[in-house]
Amino acid sequence: MQLSDRITGINAGGSDGWGIYIKARDMERAGQKVIHLTIGEHDVRTDRTILDAMHAATLAGHTGYSFGSGSPGLRERIARRVSERTGVTTTPDNVLVVPGGQAGLFATHMAACDPGDRALFIDPYYATYPGTIRSVGARPVPVLARAERMFQPDAADIAAAAGDGAASLLINSPNNPTGVAYSQETMEGIARTCQDHDLWLISDEVYDTQLWHGRHITPRALPGMAERTLVIGSLSKSHAMTGSRIGWVVGPEEALEHMGHLATNTTYGVAGFVQEAASFALDQGEGFETTIAAPFRRRRDLVLRLLDGQNVVRPIPPDGTMYVMLDIRATGLSGEAFAEALLDKHHVAVMPGESFGKAAAGHLRVALTVDDAQLEEAMRLLLALAAERAG
Ligand code: PLP
Repeated sequence: MQLSDRITGINAGGSDGWGIYIKARDMERAGQKVIHLTIGEHDVRTDRTILDAMHAATLAGHTGYSFGSGSPGLRERIARRVSERTGVTTTPDNVLVVPGGQAGLFATHMAACDPGDRALFIDPYYATYPGTIRSVGARPVPVLARAERMFQPDAADIAAAAGDGAASLLINSPNNPTGVAYSQETMEGIARTCQDHDLWLISDEVYDTQLWHGRHITPRALPGMAERTLVIGSLSKSHAMTGSRIGWVVGPEEALEHMGHLATNTTYGVAGFVQEAASFALDQGEGFETTIAAPFRRRRDLVLRLLDGQNVVRPIPPDGTMYVMLDIRATGLSGEAFAEALLDKHHVAVMPGESFGKAAAGHLRVALTVDDAQLEEAMRLLLALAAERAG
């Protein structure tokens, strides 16, 4: 039987960038020890108190069909959080509960793009972005945020890519994979360009609680942007709830009403007991979120300290997230060749920058998701390989 172009085209026949990760897992399955600095998953599991709340919710009967758009209580809780943290008045009608930020990426592009539309996204990018855009039948158009500009996108590049008739721009700050948070100036340039070119702005803010200095800047709070911005939030990173699949989209009421229809016709909503647990988790406040983020902040500082005093491996000091990006161009190797050699020789798995697009070529993304001692050992081995290759 003939499959649709839309589904066979999701990966566009190319690599999805996970080669090193899969090879590392195969090595582990074959009994070898590997230090995994690949995927963005905490080294702690979901907190016991959240699991207790989830369990209590199952016993209290939250096991039937739930509302497609999210329970009134959770939508209210998210609206309050967003209003308090961003200063933008947000009501439950501006909120859709989704099964994770990834579902939010899909729903927002469904809302913003018709089949064939051009959908811009910033490169380096989170691995699923092009596939998500292709999933809704739109055409992904990367806009490079260059290493020379510390991975801050340039509004002029976005404007040039938008040309006439692009439908949307997807950004992510704090950014996976670079760890960079976009500056006020960058955000204002992005906002201006979206207004000039009539673009929807899709703002992936799933790392908003992992910021190491300053305040998180959401473009939805900039003048004239609330009506054209769709924000994606998630409890995956902020509350170590990756497996619970819970997040949200915030945006203009009309867009959210239609995305509610999408939810009814696809997922039929998120499990009621997960939504109850999410309400409980959000009630724990910023102190809890700081505790979840603390190991990544500590390990970020540790990596920067370990890399001090040499020139071969140059870190991009992260403003946030659970990653550090390393520039290894001085070794003469590509990110892919370096990551492959590091895995083969020292059994340390890191993501090659090339997995995240063209702009991150010659870089590595190190996930700060193992204990400090293992991270220190991995960095020692990485530095040894880099020194050897750089001659
Ligand atoms: N957006 C970015 C930038 C991510 O890094 C991830 C996951 O790593 C997601 C979205 C998806 O997160 P979720 O678990 O909420 O679907």
